[in-house]
Amino acid sequence: MPDDPMTRRDLIATTAKAAAVAAVAPALANATPPPGSPRPVAVSSMNGIHAVKLAVERMSGGASPVDAAVAGVGLVEADPEDVTVGYGGLPNEDGVVQLDAAVMDGTTMRAGAVAALERIVHPAQVALQVMRGTDRILLVGEGALRFARAHGFPEKDLLTERSRKIWLFWKENESDHDDWLPEAGEIDDPDIQWFIKNYGDVDFRPHGTIHLSACDAAGRLGCCTTTSGLFFKMSGRVGDSPLVGAGLYCDGDVGSAGGTGHGESNIVVAGGHTVVEFMRRGSSPEAACVATLERVVRNTKLDYLKDAKGRPKNNLLLYAVNRAGEVGGAAIWAGERTKYAVCRAGSEPQLVDCAYLFKRDN
Ligand code: ASP
Repeated sequence: MPDDPMTRRDLIATTAKAAAVAAVAPALANATPPPGSPRPVAVSSMNGIHAVKLAVERMSGGASPVDAAVAGVGLVEADPEDVTVGYGGLPNEDGVVQLDAAVMDGTTMRAGAVAALERIVHPAQVALQVMRGTDRILLVGEGALRFARAHGFPEKDLLTERSRKIWLFWKENESDHDDWLPEAGEIDDPDIQWFIKNYGDVDFRPHGTIHLSACDAAGRLGCCTTTSGLFFKMSGRVGDSPLVGAGLYCDGDVGSAGGTGHGESNIVVAGGHTVVEFMRRGSSPEAACVATLERVVRNTKLDYLKDAKGRPKNNLLLYAVNRAGEVGGAAIWAGERTKYAVCRAGSEPQLVDCAYLFKRDN
């Protein structure tokens, strides 16, 4: 299969591709509601089950989709129980919490973002301020912190005791060839047990993040992605989340999309933008997510990134909504955590299985 740019052939093949994917992804057939689904609607990663509800409430009250998205994800940013976003997020390899976030408004086609921002609980709000209060898009590190201070954002130590202990456990067990030694009994600590129960102990670096795409009653669109990033990342590493076109993208004429999971895989396909472009060509949100993930699979060339069957080892999840209010989500790998959250006006939020490309054999 060629590693293609988007070609006319893609367009012609869209229907055939969707049918082919349906054969391997049983969730495809029933995950997308029919056109005319009630709006406002919000779709997010599965940790956004409360966020989508708040976003819909805000849009129903007149807030713009991007404001509603930022309000929704704010619940998760402030929640120390979610160790993948905001306060209580897992730190980088040095034990420092560095947050990335971005917003995009489909009506104005403006965007704002911050990366490697420390000490601010709500980086998405800072990203919104960058969008509205500057004619720039992305501020990083110390500059982003100074900008947040200038706008009166309160500062706080973002490292909770739970996240510090989990980081220390990783640090002490990461290698036999450094100066850090595992401590007896440390694995029995309730916080370490909590982490292993929720995220497993296979590679100890699973994924988190929240993306939320919102569509109001008039079909206006906005989105936001916010994260503490890859667990124990290299200091200074920035993933896909704050990169407009990768971690999120929104076009007021078409739809809105974003991703969570292995950021580097998403960056090299410009995932958020690619999903929107597939929707522009007529794909449903779910089919657009699937087609973009198929491109990730084709673009995964290096052996160390592939399993014995040549499939990407890392997971990536994409979520999307179109102007009609249809939603969808897809993952490279199916699993317990490969669901997305959706909420519509007049309904309670629910979790829906993502379509997927592969399922583990065991
Ligand atoms: N996509 C995020 C990043 O690469 C991490 C994640 O979603 O878990 O920073």
